[in-house]
Amino acid sequence: MNYDALAELLFKDIDTTPADIEAMYPERALPEGAMVTRIAPSPTGFVHFGNLFPAITSERMAHQSGGIFYLRIEDTDAKREVPGAVDIILKAFTSFGLNFDEGATVDGDNGYYGPYRQRQREKIYKTYAKELVKQGKAYPCFCTEEDLAIAHAKQEALKCNFGYFGQWAKCRDKSFEEIKQLIDEGKSYVLRFRSEGSSENKIKHRDLVKGELEITENDIDHVLLKSDGIPTYHFAHVVDDHLMGTTHVVRGDEWLSTLPLHLQLFRAMGWKAPKYLHISPLMKSEGDSKRKLSKRKDPEAALTFYAKEGYPSDAVYEYILTLLNSGYEQWRMTNPDKDAREYPFQYKKMSVSGALFDIVKLYDVSKNYVSRLTADEVYEAVKDWAKEYNPSFYELFTKDKKFSVDILSIGRGGKKPRKDFGVWSEVPSYMDFFFDEIFNPTLEYDENLSKENIKAVLKSYIEVYDDNDDNNAWFEKIREMSEKLGFSGDVKKYKESPESYIGHVGDVSMVLRIAVCGRTNSPDMYAVFKILGKDKVIERIKDAYEKLN
Ligand code: GLU
Repeated sequence: MNYDALAELLFKDIDTTPADIEAMYPERALPEGAMVTRIAPSPTGFVHFGNLFPAITSERMAHQSGGIFYLRIEDTDAKREVPGAVDIILKAFTSFGLNFDEGATVDGDNGYYGPYRQRQREKIYKTYAKELVKQGKAYPCFCTEEDLAIAHAKQEALKCNFGYFGQWAKCRDKSFEEIKQLIDEGKSYVLRFRSEGSSENKIKHRDLVKGELEITENDIDHVLLKSDGIPTYHFAHVVDDHLMGTTHVVRGDEWLSTLPLHLQLFRAMGWKAPKYLHISPLMKSEGDSKRKLSKRKDPEAALTFYAKEGYPSDAVYEYILTLLNSGYEQWRMTNPDKDAREYPFQYKKMSVSGALFDIVKLYDVSKNYVSRLTADEVYEAVKDWAKEYNPSFYELFTKDKKFSVDILSIGRGGKKPRKDFGVWSEVPSYMDFFFDEIFNPTLEYDENLSKENIKAVLKSYIEVYDDNDDNNAWFEKIREMSEKLGFSGDVKKYKESPESYIGHVGDVSMVLRIAVCGRTNSPDMYAVFKILGKDKVIERIKDAYEKLN
């Protein structure tokens, strides 16, 4: 067979050579040990929470080693592409502080190793495909879907391996004349890799997470170019990661089964394969068993879920670090004030099996994270969240910044800060009683107190309340007032002889809390009253009094 002639027949429009292309992708000038990593999502418009694992791992590996982290868009399947998907991808990852040094941008490219969208690289793939044909390592296959289905059914009946290999590879040895005739007849074809492997052979491979693996050599003549000339993932991955200088490929372990093909392709091209790090899928407990976190079944599989609920992206980042590196939590305890990105991430410490996703733990991490923020930081974050997801609350919240920051300051700072909320979507209900527009009180008092007792508390409080009182004087007044009304000013004394009192000072405070805040739990009441101001406090107490009539 004259392979040169076959290459010309199949790729007559391709006049570039591999050397021309190599010249456009010079070796990167990076310091010793610098890693070049990437994420390579398809533009489907959906970003899975699990995608953050390879992304954070890749980003950390690149940036901790002084290397490059880039974004490549794998858009070879045009049917799955959604308009605006690149924007969604960029926003999703950059919101977690995963900044790309180069790669696809919303409407173009940033960097010298592009184009970073695979559909724009067609000529490059074809140049290398032509080279493989020239070397006898790839051939056209004219089998139809139907032919392949028949072969598959026969393989099933014979209980042999599936795929295009050996006796099943009908087009592997077609002569030049046969091929030419089929092409002249306008028959459509794909380009297949001519595998020299055997399923009898085992190869050794060291995965950076999974360790030493013994895998079966690939003997399948996989498709490299589809009938429309667009490459498959396998071929595009090999060409792109070679040209773009990727040193470490971090990807889901669904690719482990085709890794032997990828390694074979790198060898066939005469290139050094990158190092691989395959990550197991994120799991979720269901009853006694575990299953993959599913796009179809679990709303929390979508990255957009976290933005909508208002999980601070830094808290999510931190949670993922706890799953990626078991040493992270210990580090956080000894370095409470450091940015999570200062943690020395080590891919060597990643666990081999799939991490178990636990939203309760994430919420807990988030609560702790939020408790460490300043009121101003919380204000800014809630503002951004509300602007997008709760515009009516946004209006109220931003009307008077000082007022909102004062509310957020209650119980913040100090050794034991309050942990009232972990996600921004909890904030509106946490502070709704500060805003008349959304104040919706539930005036349900302790049923052991009579209407008259409650009215007496409310009435007396209006008489003694002075908003110039400091915290101690304020409480002292409530205590004195309690005693005058027949309550005990001391809980301990009350417990010694409950029959001697109507209740105790805590019950009196609760009446006031319910009247002013419309609920039984609120942050520190003294601070709440101070922020609401005398007029509002009195107005609410009067209203509550009226409602008892
Ligand atoms: N487009 C592939 C995917 O989304 C990328 C895998 C890789 O990182 O190589 O699974």
